[in-house]
Amino acid sequence: MKVSDRLAHLIEDGNDGWDVFYRARQMISDGRAITELTIGEHDIRTDPTILAAMDLSARQGHTGYAMVPGTDLLRDTVAARVEARTGVPTRRDNVVITSGGQAALFAAHVAVCNPGDVALYLDPYYATYPGTIRAAGAVARTIQTSAEHAFQPRASQIDAAADGAVSLLINTPNNPTGAVYSPETLNQIADICQKRDLWLISDEVYDTQVWDGTHISPRMLPNMAERSLVVGSMSKSHAMTGSRCGWVVGPEHVISHLINLSTHTTYGVPGFIQDAASFALNAGPALEEDVAAPFRRRRSLAVEILNAQNTIRLIPAQGAMYLMLDIRATALSGNEFANALLDTQDIAVMPGESFGKAAAGHIRVAMTIDDDRFSSALSTICTFAAELADRRAAE
Ligand code: PLP
Repeated sequence: MKVSDRLAHLIEDGNDGWDVFYRARQMISDGRAITELTIGEHDIRTDPTILAAMDLSARQGHTGYAMVPGTDLLRDTVAARVEARTGVPTRRDNVVITSGGQAALFAAHVAVCNPGDVALYLDPYYATYPGTIRAAGAVARTIQTSAEHAFQPRASQIDAAADGAVSLLINTPNNPTGAVYSPETLNQIADICQKRDLWLISDEVYDTQVWDGTHISPRMLPNMAERSLVVGSMSKSHAMTGSRCGWVVGPEHVISHLINLSTHTTYGVPGFIQDAASFALNAGPALEEDVAAPFRRRRSLAVEILNAQNTIRLIPAQGAMYLMLDIRATALSGNEFANALLDTQDIAVMPGESFGKAAAGHIRVAMTIDDDRFSSALSTICTFAAELADRRAAE
């Protein structure tokens, strides 16, 4: 018996780009001390005050089926937060709560793409994007951005790819590049979406992690609210990755259909998780700043270390918990570099190629271990790259 074509072709070439990560995990389970700079997972856990709210809610009986669209409290809280941050009038009916940002990405594509429709996304991309688009039944079409433009997309590139497309997925602050899209970039994107009649799916799960510049939600740009679906999550802002709580914010008529989708797929998100999320969002910015602070600190440490050498080029690290490093001076691909680094230095990073073609010759470093180990690992990466580059120059 065969699985459906949609599932069989979810992951192109059967390769999901996580080979180095899986290899590192295997080495760790074989007893080797590997420094892991691979996945976007905080090195702190969910704050005890959030856990206390979760515990209280569960003990008070919020363990049954919760409201499928999300609890009124959480939907109102998300709506108020989005309105405060963007100035765009946002009500409960503009919000559906989902099982994390990942389910929100899937739901947003199901909402706007018919089977076979083309959905655009930008390369480099968060590793699940193409599979998520395919899972929704759409055809995933990439648009290449370039290291030379610090991975800021250009209107001309989007325009050239837009024939027959119904949606464009963007992500700022960006994983894997650390780019925060400039007002100019976002205005160009908004113009193209209007000109080419595209839905804009805006993944803003890193909106509390901005080190340089300002986060602008494109939904707040003129005439964009009616064609934007914003993906949000508790995962990155509140170190609640395991709680699986996120949302889609968009026009009421789309959200009402997405509530139907939830009814027929997840049947909602656990009530005690939603109560914890409501508590966390209402706890104020200090909690979010505490969660973001280690990345801000390590990003500064990284800039210092990388400024002191000239083999590796840092793509401007403006936001999110990653550094994108150009290692092309070593003449290795990102894959070759990452595998050699793992084998000889016991450090695991993600090859740029895991995130598409545009980040070939790069590696992504997650800033997710304590400051001392992070600095030491980054220094080792620099020395390793310099030795490779020297060897290459001597050949
Ligand atoms: N979008 C981006 C860009 C991400 O990096 C991630 C997770 O790493 C997600 C969405 C999904 O996050 P979650 O499902 O945990 O909310």
